[in-house]
Amino acid sequence: MFRSHRYGLITSIVGIVAVIVLLFIYRHLAWHELINHEIKSHATLTQVFSNTIWPEYAGFLVNATGFSEAELQQHEVIQRLHRDVARYIARSSVVKVKIYDLRGITVFSTDVSQIGQDQSDNSAFIAAKYGVVTGEVSFRDRFDTHEGVIVDRDLIASYIPVRISENAPVEAVFELYSDVTDLVGDLNKHQRELAFWVVSSLSLLYLFLLIIVRRADKTIVRQEKERRDQEAKIHYQAHYDALTGLHNRTSFGERLEEATKRSDRANRMLALLQFDLDHFKLVNDSLGQTAGDQVLRTGAKRIQEQVRESDMVFRIGSDQFAVIMEPLRNTEDASRLATRVIESMAAPMSVDNQEVMITVSIGISVYPQDDLSPDMLVKDADTALHLAKQEGRNQYRYFSPAMKSQALDRLDFETGLKQALQRDELVLYYQPRVESKTGEVIALEALLRWAHPKRGLVPPNSFIPLLEELGLISPVGEWVVYTACRQVKDWHDAGLANIRVSVNISSGQFRAVSFVDMVRDALDQSGLDARFLELELTESVLIENIDTAVKIMQELKEIGVSISIDDFGSGYSSLNYLKLLPLDYLKIDRTFVKDLATNDKDVAIIKTIAALAHSLKIKLVAEGVEENSQLEFLRSQDCCEFQGFLFSPPVPSSAIPDMISVQEARRAV
Ligand code: C2E
Ligand code: MG
Ligand code: MG
Repeated sequence: MFRSHRYGLITSIVGIVAVIVLLFIYRHLAWHELINHEIKSHATLTQVFSNTIWPEYAGFLVNATGFSEAELQQHEVIQRLHRDVARYIARSSVVKVKIYDLRGITVFSTDVSQIGQDQSDNSAFIAAKYGVVTGEVSFRDRFDTHEGVIVDRDLIASYIPVRISENAPVEAVFELYSDVTDLVGDLNKHQRELAFWVVSSLSLLYLFLLIIVRRADKTIVRQEKERRDQEAKIHYQAHYDALTGLHNRTSFGERLEEATKRSDRANRMLALLQFDLDHFKLVNDSLGQTAGDQVLRTGAKRIQEQVRESDMVFRIGSDQFAVIMEPLRNTEDASRLATRVIESMAAPMSVDNQEVMITVSIGISVYPQDDLSPDMLVKDADTALHLAKQEGRNQYRYFSPAMKSQALDRLDFETGLKQALQRDELVLYYQPRVESKTGEVIALEALLRWAHPKRGLVPPNSFIPLLEELGLISPVGEWVVYTACRQVKDWHDAGLANIRVSVNISSGQFRAVSFVDMVRDALDQSGLDARFLELELTESVLIENIDTAVKIMQELKEIGVSISIDDFGSGYSSLNYLKLLPLDYLKIDRTFVKDLATNDKDVAIIKTIAALAHSLKIKLVAEGVEENSQLEFLRSQDCCEFQGFLFSPPVPSSAIPDMISVQEARRAV
């Protein structure tokens, strides 16, 4: 990870080291300067000495070879020289003077005891003898000067050649000692101060930098983390399904492609299993989306619990899942997995304190056996899944080549349906609704048919769910409303008065934003009086969001249309909603009417529905009436209208005028 404060620290350390090195260089230069300065003053002193005093003593000192050490120390010339030297250096920093002859013998020293000592092998002396001036600083804890002993001192000693003039030969070597303790002390003090200020300023600067850099670092680290979190989130959203946490459809495409490539390389098989929860839409519509979500999560979990660790589970559609089994040893493994999933799904799910039963249909395709491209493999599994559903659901099917032609048929049907509206292949049939008291047709239910060019008249149950799936229910439903209104208005104009028409409305259509406007427009355009239009809604339309349903229905009531609940008793209904809705009719589901003669339970149910409708002042309509016995019973329950084959099946519009005129003629008689 990028940590800028590390770089800052390293740079600062390098800076500090550089400053310390500079301080050392500075010290070295200052030291050198000090020594040079002292040597220069020693040289000047020596030069002055050479010019003034030296000539007087040179003769004696250069040739002082015949004396013993003691004689020399006591010699009157030496003692005079001592006094002269003492006087001479009295006002300078020089504390000691020594003179060597060219052999290296100490012929004079302010410390008399040193006279006579041999210094011939001293390198500084040798250098001076050949004309080179040298000097060095040393610390002495005790030192004899011409004025007595001094302690703890820094001294500078210089060896200086003595000559009369600049080009004259060296005659002797002077060694002068100066006390530079104060200068060295000053220098050290000065350097300490300098070092202190430099180091403290640098430390402060470093501290300041460190704070800034650390802050910047924290910001960078935080931003970096945010960026990575964001990336991870985007990646997650792109590849995972938020509801179930499974891989999503995008991920599915990628992984399937990779898996087929791996299988090719390893020369192995893989199975693709596609799952679809049976009747999931019903659960979603009747129990609401939250419950639907819960069912999906539980379903996903159950599938996941059955697969091997190496197999991946995907959510590829609203209630569709897929598993890639890779590698696949044999097809039995896929069958076993499918069976396990079907069995695990059979246990009731607890959703919102209710028990929900759901089953699953599975389609399986095998690579490379069925197809070689991942896309085709998906289509094959889908085809197999469709068959599993068609043949009763809650089972699995393997893809087979024979299915391909069925799938093509289905595709053909689907394509045809998409064009049916434009090609004018949709027609409305009308089924009479008869009034109980008079036995006369007082209303007609408009029922949709598809006049398929090859298959003939296709009943609505085989294509309405597909229209909903394809998102085409709204335009088709709209066409039904407009056509029915116009047709009935035409009949009214032709003299068939007081005929009402009822139109079936699907849930997708009812919730469309412009539904109420559409109804109003259909009435306006046709000129039909609103009281002749009835809308049939199923229970599932209402359950999803009762508040919106009530609002829409009230708007419809304001227009003046009637509203009925179709197939009452067949859906997941909560009776509570009945009192909230502005209803005119309840249409008892025909399954209750069908077995009235043999099934006491159906009798009981119809009695209950009738009692409920009467107490809520909603008119009762019975459909699917095929026998007189049914009619009698329903009449006894105060049904006000009947519909069924006993009176007439749904007929084309052309058959209606005759039917009604006959009835009117009868009435006239
Ligand atoms: P539904 O609204 O309950 O319509 C009554 C269905 O019962 C009709 O079937 C009718 O032919 C049938 N039926 C009537 N009397 C009898 C009888 O005595 N015995 C038997 N066995 N059946 C009888 P159809 O026309 O096949 O319609 C089926 C369903 O399709 C309708 O049920 C309705 O839910 C839906 N549907 C029809 N037309 C439309 C439409 O324009 N829009 C929408 N959304 N759904 C429609
Ligand atoms: Mg109906
Ligand atoms: Mg019905």
